[in-house]
Amino acid sequence: MWGSVAVKLAHITINDLGGAPLATHNMPCAVCGTSPAVLDIATGVFNPCWECQKRGWILQKRKPLGERLMDILMGEDGPG
Ligand SMILES: [Zn+2]
Repeated sequence: MWGSVAVKLAHITINDLGGAPLATHNMPCAVCGTSPAVLDIATGVFNPCWECQKRGWILQKRKPLGERLMDILMGEDGPG
């Protein structure tokens, strides 16, 4: 039997003060869990905090297996 788990969604506020939008949120970094995550306003995706990004952490979309195999076959064996 599965128990219930409370999930808190991030609270995001975006203020457009006549210029570039400024966002505030309460989402912690998924890597360290202590610093605030970095919100990409254009996509709505949370990236690791700046300090974790300096240490090499990134959020990366992984290509489906079929696309990765095609990349290997075509000689484009990049990350993914
Ligand atoms: Zn972090």
